[in-house]
Amino acid sequence: MAQDDVFKKIVSHCKEYGFVFPSSDIYDGLAAVYDYGQNGVELKNNIKQYWWQSMVLLHSNIVGIDAAIFMHPTVWKASGHVDAFNDPLIDNKDSKKRYRADNLIEDQIAKYDEKIDKEVAKAKKRFGDAFDEEKFRQTNPRVLEHVAKRDALHERYTKAMQGPDLAELKQIILDEGIVDPISGTKNWTDVRQFNLMFSTEMGSLSDATSKIYLRPETAQGIFVNFANIQRTTRRKLPFGVCQVGKAFRNEITPGNFTFRTREFEQMELEFFCEPGTDLDWFQYWRGFCINWLKSLGMKDEEMRARDHSPEELCFYSKGTTDIEFLFPFGWGELWGIADRTDYDLTQHQNVSGQDMTYFDPEKNEKYIPYVIEPSLGADRVVLAFLCSAYDEEVLDAEKNDVRTVMHFHPALAPVKIGVLPLSKKLNEGAEKVFAELSKKYNCEFDDRGNIGKRYRRQDEIGTPYCITYDFDSETDGAVTVRDRDTMEQERIKIEDLDAYFADKFTF
Ligand code: ATP
Repeated sequence: MAQDDVFKKIVSHCKEYGFVFPSSDIYDGLAAVYDYGQNGVELKNNIKQYWWQSMVLLHSNIVGIDAAIFMHPTVWKASGHVDAFNDPLIDNKDSKKRYRADNLIEDQIAKYDEKIDKEVAKAKKRFGDAFDEEKFRQTNPRVLEHVAKRDALHERYTKAMQGPDLAELKQIILDEGIVDPISGTKNWTDVRQFNLMFSTEMGSLSDATSKIYLRPETAQGIFVNFANIQRTTRRKLPFGVCQVGKAFRNEITPGNFTFRTREFEQMELEFFCEPGTDLDWFQYWRGFCINWLKSLGMKDEEMRARDHSPEELCFYSKGTTDIEFLFPFGWGELWGIADRTDYDLTQHQNVSGQDMTYFDPEKNEKYIPYVIEPSLGADRVVLAFLCSAYDEEVLDAEKNDVRTVMHFHPALAPVKIGVLPLSKKLNEGAEKVFAELSKKYNCEFDDRGNIGKRYRRQDEIGTPYCITYDFDSETDGAVTVRDRDTMEQERIKIEDLDAYFADKFTF
């Protein structure tokens, strides 16, 4: 099945089974804004809880906070967002569509890579086992031509972005003959800068002094509280501060379902450490984040860590890695891990005039700590786990019997256990089982329809275990437990269910 079709199926599955709905659906939705339904909210909450537990509860030197979305406007001046949180924007005069100039050029670079891969695939088919891919890549004239064009474009683009040199970005688009995918024309406007922050007015007077912003990231709430937290926790370096919360960006080209939206949630850690130890901590957190995703079932082939080249790095960063996931629409950033040096605290010290230094009792000196920031988008990681879990299993090709199943890790599954009485006459006994298990797990009680259909419905929302309470249960005090992935069933005494599931849901 084409990847486009897979993605369409996942999006419609999300709507059909209460994971994600378009916002304000009865009014035809609001572009690129989404609501989480009954299963989506459980999935998202499970991810957030697992993250909080791994970060805050399992690290004795990490604490959490919950800062307000509104902040003093000067925060965003100090952080650089007022002056530099911009994307280069370009419009096509025929389609009236708006694009990010950098994305148009990045897509063009990717096209050269696709051409190279096509040449390699063609040659592989032609030469069969005798094919030496490395030699082919190094010597084939067509491949070399594409590589040269790609490298030249990459160099020119990287240089233009450093300014950024907006006229040069437009010139690149013209020189490369990039056309608007909708109108098919090259009738472009000039490139201009567009600030991504949403602003609004606070209070009843609307003048320049009342302008405030909806935070575009949660991190600044941690930086401005650094001194408060250090003083009240009496933590020594290294220590970290976590936060989960909403962020808002007026993205020029939102899209790919919940991948890029204008309102989203971030899970951020700011890990403060002594200058000089930062690169070691950067490596530690890089490894930690990869393992965290794997511990929830993400597969090696679905993820990659992309280290930024020196030209790509922000001027204050000593190292940045994006952990990317292979979505049906291509690789996309999930988690950005950056060594931000002492940039943010120094900026706030300079602009606010408040002391942001840390007194190191061992060295008997004061300095501004360095910070490592792993920043994860909650909505993006939810989407990644939805894509990773979605599966269509052919059970019987002749009868066209296909089972749609969400193979969520048990820690993430919205519903942990389905309780299904075989007949409505058995509801009383089944309800007792449900009441007991509901004290610990999110369970669903379903007594409607035939048992096969009920199993399938639980598969479709990714419930790892279903309990069937049948007529024998009344006499033998046992139920049948069905495993979602293997579809195997086993008979378990009701009194043993607690221990049985404790074992299944311990991570
Ligand atoms: P991108 O390059 O994809 O726009 P970014 O590099 O600007 O992302 P960061 O500023 O590093 O992103 O934000 C940290 C994380 O927040 C990202 O890795 C991503 O998971 C999430 N995120 C950022 N922008 C959005 C958005 N518009 N919608 C959903 N999640 C987002």
